[in-house]
Amino acid sequence: MLADRLKTLAPSSTLAVQAKAKELRAKGIDVISFGAGEPDFDTPERIKDAAVQAMRRGQTKYTEVGGIPELRAAVCAKLKRDNGLAYEPADILVSVGAKHTLFNLVVALINPGDEVLVPSPYWVSYPEQVRLVGGMPVDVETAEATGFDLDPAKLRAAVTPRTKLIVLNSPNNPTGAVFSQAALEAVARLAVERNLWIVSDECYEALTFEGRHVSIASFSPEVKARTIVVNTCSKAYAMTGWRIGYAAGARELIRAMTDVQSQVTSNPSSIAQWAAVEALSGPQEQVGKMAAEFDRRRRLIIAGLNALPGIRCAMPRGAFYAFANVSGLFGRTWPRREGAVTLKSSLDVTGFLLEEARVAVVPGKDFGSDAHVRLSYATSDALIAEGLARMGAALAKLA
Ligand code: PMP
Ligand code: GLU
Repeated sequence: MLADRLKTLAPSSTLAVQAKAKELRAKGIDVISFGAGEPDFDTPERIKDAAVQAMRRGQTKYTEVGGIPELRAAVCAKLKRDNGLAYEPADILVSVGAKHTLFNLVVALINPGDEVLVPSPYWVSYPEQVRLVGGMPVDVETAEATGFDLDPAKLRAAVTPRTKLIVLNSPNNPTGAVFSQAALEAVARLAVERNLWIVSDECYEALTFEGRHVSIASFSPEVKARTIVVNTCSKAYAMTGWRIGYAAGARELIRAMTDVQSQVTSNPSSIAQWAAVEALSGPQEQVGKMAAEFDRRRRLIIAGLNALPGIRCAMPRGAFYAFANVSGLFGRTWPRREGAVTLKSSLDVTGFLLEEARVAVVPGKDFGSDAHVRLSYATSDALIAEGLARMGAALAKLA
């Protein structure tokens, strides 16, 4: 019955883990979720107020497909202020979250059979979106030993005549890597040389704890011309539910992405757009405060994970994920009531932690590494401490 493209489609596992934890909680089972990455903070009041005022003013109708001029201007001002990038409102598209922005991009850019280089580990949605439009995601490994920095030599070796796009995500979900300037420069040179497009997903920009966030688009006009910068209000402003993401790039491509959006969703919520104007243009102190809080929790959870037997976790430099290596648990036996299980994959470890510790984490396999599990630490100190304690108690049961 279903279209062929559904044969390979994996539903978003980050969202699935979150849903599973919610479902268990509704049944009265007390699960601690390190699942989906979303700030536990509430959206700042000034942003909510802007939405309320927009509703009161009657700004409740369709807007321009690509976003109200005020928001596109606010995005331009943000990109200038934070990234040193000059764009005009016609170079901007506002969508229903960055996930939607990215999908508009692959629909507008990728032909069936085109190859897209995806540094691995990667966020779960990149390869799936590429496959949905008939493209071929090509995993290009990054190494844990380098803090999962981009590997320009490996990327170069993966380029073929069919390669069209390179996906960059720094700070990185799931690894927390902040790509080095040297690696980014080498990839920029490669893209220019081989005439490739770059999508630079900078959704975690505000959560850069070590190193410095630089947008690859700022390297030169030549690089900027072939880069689509993608960002979101979700993380920096604790606005995951409002669904506002945006892209900046070559006008012709932005226009094509806007045309796609015009036939699929029309504009993102008018009310959320007005909230986003306030988020991007208003006082920015809260962003730094939330980031400082995540930074503190980062140290807490990484220290706790490294104290657990069989688990080691490199210090992430950005975003709010711990990408813990659990391969030290492989071969250990979980004496389960229904029959003993020998742990041998990230999915086994995820199942073990959920059942035995009532802790939800995402299997690394869905991010391209079966040796890891991902924990989002965008949650309170108390839950982090309790989650780690439960994991410790469960691990003690392994034979
Ligand atoms: N890119 C990355 C790397 C992400 O982790 C996410 C998930 N928040 C997104 C894009 C999409 O975010 P949103 O759709 O909420 O803007
Ligand atoms: N991006 C977040 C995550 O990786 C939210 C869920 C999603 O959109 O995939 O957990």
